[in-house]
Amino acid sequence: MNIQNSPQVAVIGAGPAGSYTALQLAKHGIKTMVFEEHKQIGLPSHCAGHISIQSLKTLGLYPLESIVENTFCAANFYSPQGTKFTLRLNCPVTVALNRTQLDQHLAKQAQNAGAEFILNSQVQAIHIQKGTITGLKVKTNNNTHTINTPIVVDAEGISSRLLRQTGLTPLKASGLVYAIETDVDNIENIEEHAVEVYFGKSYAPGFYGWIIPKPDGTAKVGLATNQGHPRNYLKRLMTKHPIASKQLSKAKILNTNYHAISLGGPIPQACSNGFLAVGDCASQVKPTTGGGIIFSLTAAKEAADVTNQALIRGNVSVETLMTYQKRCNKLFSFDVKTMLQLRHFIDSLSDEKLDEMLRVCQKLGVDKALRNVTEIDFQGKMLLSVATKPAMIAALAYFGLLYLHHS
Ligand SMILES: Cc1cc2nc3c(=O)[nH]c(=O)nc-3n(C[C@H](O)[C@H](O)[C@H](O)COP(=O)(O)OP(=O)(O)OC[C@H]3O[C@@H](n4cnc5c(N)ncnc54)[C@H](O)[C@@H]3O)c2cc1C
Repeated sequence: MNIQNSPQVAVIGAGPAGSYTALQLAKHGIKTMVFEEHKQIGLPSHCAGHISIQSLKTLGLYPLESIVENTFCAANFYSPQGTKFTLRLNCPVTVALNRTQLDQHLAKQAQNAGAEFILNSQVQAIHIQKGTITGLKVKTNNNTHTINTPIVVDAEGISSRLLRQTGLTPLKASGLVYAIETDVDNIENIEEHAVEVYFGKSYAPGFYGWIIPKPDGTAKVGLATNQGHPRNYLKRLMTKHPIASKQLSKAKILNTNYHAISLGGPIPQACSNGFLAVGDCASQVKPTTGGGIIFSLTAAKEAADVTNQALIRGNVSVETLMTYQKRCNKLFSFDVKTMLQLRHFIDSLSDEKLDEMLRVCQKLGVDKALRNVTEIDFQGKMLLSVATKPAMIAALAYFGLLYLHHS
């Protein structure tokens, strides 16, 4: 590997956003180098890897064979008091992926297409002269190199340390929740193809808790919170929640990871001269579920396409790269706005109101109205598609009243 050869595009980070951008760039024949600070791609893993099949298909990434740990056609939502609302869909709509293997799979595809991956290499700074990117400072095996490049794609994830150097507005600290993700064994009384979701301020204030089962009796269990330590809330969920405590009474935690999730919606501008931000560092994450993989991959495709056009035109100025921003706005704005309202609404509810809401959903038959849904990532459009069904009209009216009462 010759780190001295200048790439046309340097990508920071080999998570899904970085590797998928590199794959698309390499397919355009662009000399691309990806710098990843860890020795191995995909490790440590901090993510549940729960994503929609339809979105993977749209991106040309499905089937994923051995990477798929389980498929899901149902979700059980619980209030803190244990009231259950089940959403059962007509066919499997989501999968749980082995996140380490997904990252490695995307990187392999990018490598096969011609992208070069430099591991154990931390980008320490972006060189900018008179407002123009000139390269990167990279530390590899205790040696520091300067990499000359006209375009940097920043896919460094949520820390956004390098993005701040460009002067762009980083993600909002107020939109962060702090997550714990564990692998456990010996789960009980859990449907194999249903995801368990636990709402409520008593157990996961500002977010929710989850159990994502695997067919072998193990599961990914986690939660995120906007206050206190997530470890303490997980302990509470596992021991005190009327349902989860029974499902997890024999479970042993096998490993634990901590990571933040950005729920505040995308940053206002994700590009500047010779610079594009993709994925978590641009907060391209669903404010409702914290899912960021599909948004990251969708944005990565646009970033690579706009970069290709900029290189063809020999103009990597912010004016040219703003096409990326416009496309992201068009792709995400409506759905993100809807999801931000939903998040605000759920956060505003007391545990008692949440309990009432799940009872009302069950009573009105909201589950039946949603039975044919296949799209769960773009939730604004999904809600529009079902909004004329009688049960949904009644439920939305009820939610609207609750919302007005609590906002
Ligand atoms: C607990 C938890 C559960 C989640 N579950 C889901 C889920 O079920 N479904 C879903 O869609 N999303 C989920 N997410 C969100 C998802 O993990 C992120 O949205 C996704 O990882 C974003 O990908 P990314 O490539 O932008 O960033 P990352 O995956 O964080 O990748 C960034 C990469 O950049 C590298 N890097 C950072 N700085 C440097 C540097 N200076 N130099 C070189 N390399 C660097 C890092 O090592 C890393 O490999 C979850 C998040 C958490 C915290």
